[in-house]
Amino acid sequence: MNAVDPTQPYDDQNIFAKILRGELPCEKVYEDEWALAFHDIGPQAPIHILVIPKGPYVSLDDFTAKASDEEIAGFCRAVGRVARDQGLVEPGNRSIANTGPDAGQIVAHFHVHICGGRPLGRMIPE
Ligand code: AMP
Repeated sequence: MNAVDPTQPYDDQNIFAKILRGELPCEKVYEDEWALAFHDIGPQAPIHILVIPKGPYVSLDDFTAKASDEEIAGFCRAVGRVARDQGLVEPGNRSIANTGPDAGQIVAHFHVHICGGRPLGRMIPE
């Protein structure tokens, strides 16, 4: 899959837009008014969950520029809640938002990865 160009307008045919519309399945772990969370299809840690906002945002950049304070607060609370519900606060976890080619973003709907379940090592490998 090609890397996302984060300067492009939102494309409602992206995979996560289809999941939000119920056109594709997901292994849901949490949902509220602002966010949907589901297991990553290619987990890179024992626990690897994606949290996505309900609104149409390409990236963290797009989300923080355009979303309302209510959407941002609701989404951030959902990320925290999912990590808590998964028991990942005490042992620790890592939340990642990739934006654009240098970060390897491949899905053009803003998402936060929550990874945990084992020691995760250095944040950015040499
Ligand atoms: P990123 O590189 O930050 O864009 O990450 C996109 C993530 O979405 C990758 O970790 C993929 O494994 C994951 N992914 C792609 N398609 C699906 C899907 N249908 N359900 C769940 N996760 C997916």
